[in-house]
Amino acid sequence: MRSYQYRFYPAESPHYERCIGFSWCSGCRIYTGAMVHVPRNRTLPDVLASLPPEQRERLKCSEVRLIEYLDSRTEDPR
Ligand SMILES: [Zn+2]
Repeated sequence: MRSYQYRFYPAESPHYERCIGFSWCSGCRIYTGAMVHVPRNRTLPDVLASLPPEQRERLKCSEVRLIEYLDSRTEDPR
């Protein structure tokens, strides 16, 4: 199982520690998404950071596309 967590609320929000967490199977792409609690002082890597804003938005609008992208990014090197 692979997993990815990202922040949904801005740093100034009281809900900042409520994050989105995904776990998925790389083979069949079955995934689960849930609210997860991540302490404010923990830095989460943002794999979407290097993308142009419109592509980020596109991925964040669709969980399926997001998982596909994350899966392609986290593939084990051969
Ligand atoms: Zn599977």
